[in-house]
Amino acid sequence: MYEQNAPDEAFGFGVVFSARTMSELWKNDQETHARIVAASVAVSDMELRHPRATLRYGGFDFSSISRRELLLILQEQAAEAGATLHFGHPAAPGSIDEADVVVYADGASSSHRDARPERFGTTVRHGASPYMWLGTHAPFDAATFSFVETENGHFAAHAYPYADGMATVVIECDPGTWKASGMDRTGDFSRNSGGSDEESLGHLGELFAEHLGGHKLIGNRSRWSTFRTVHNERWSDGNAVLLGDAAHTAHFTVGSGTKMAMEDAIALAAA
Ligand SMILES: Cc1cc2nc3c(=O)[nH]c(=O)nc-3n(C[C@H](O)[C@H](O)[C@H](O)COP(=O)(O)OP(=O)(O)OC[C@H]3O[C@@H](n4cnc5c(N)ncnc54)[C@H](O)[C@@H]3O)c2cc1C
Repeated sequence: MYEQNAPDEAFGFGVVFSARTMSELWKNDQETHARIVAASVAVSDMELRHPRATLRYGGFDFSSISRRELLLILQEQAAEAGATLHFGHPAAPGSIDEADVVVYADGASSSHRDARPERFGTTVRHGASPYMWLGTHAPFDAATFSFVETENGHFAAHAYPYADGMATVVIECDPGTWKASGMDRTGDFSRNSGGSDEESLGHLGELFAEHLGGHKLIGNRSRWSTFRTVHNERWSDGNAVLLGDAAHTAHFTVGSGTKMAMEDAIALAAA
């Protein structure tokens, strides 16, 4: 396994898994399932905070976990199963083709897939609405969907707890609201190429102050982005197989991309 980053380097904050996803994993790998469950936070309520009313619904069984924690568990389980893991090792397209099977799990902007898009039948569509992936110490106890109305338009936030005292927050808005609020002019990374868009973080923290209860928004290379919908007509070409976001993405509002990546691996192993 060749990974360009360090072992504990994860983008974003937490991810959620539905009870059904977890039962698929349990059927295929009980040890990894047990470790993920032990490191997860169980959430069962959803809360919709509309400016005119707050609605709360129960009975949605899901668990959430820190992405960094999940990566470390998967790495240890892979090593335990006999895999050799190389970190800080970028693999350029064409550099690792000498194997019986080569699995490309290099994300939505997969360079290995994009080196031969016609072979996979790749299309990538960029969504219009800008979003930013953030964290906070604010105590959310449910998957919470809140809206803030400003003179420039509406902002929406999806938030849920994923560890003791930590929650993920994804904030999005439509392109008109984004531009009118000056968010298209923030984020000069010329002196800090790996940093977060601190100006937007501060502004969004003020907009959502009521929902954050005095807590700040935290960045992890957090910048405005638009969601990429990746589609491939074929998921393999010769001895190369695409897996996870390299093959297909699922919008973050349905919280299923990581689940699909793990289920791809289960299906590939079975095949
Ligand atoms: C805001 C947001 C919230 C989300 N929330 C959820 C959620 O709650 N639940 C859920 O299931 N999913 C969620 N997702 C989706 C999830 O993050 C992705 O589907 C998942 O990370 C895909 O995993 P992957 O391994 O395919 O790709 P990635 O996680 O992108 O990993 C690709 C890896 O490949 C490495 N790499 C890339 N190129 C090279 C190279 N040339 N050489 C070596 N290494 C390379 C990268 O460093 C990276 O570590 C969310 C996504 C977003 C944007």
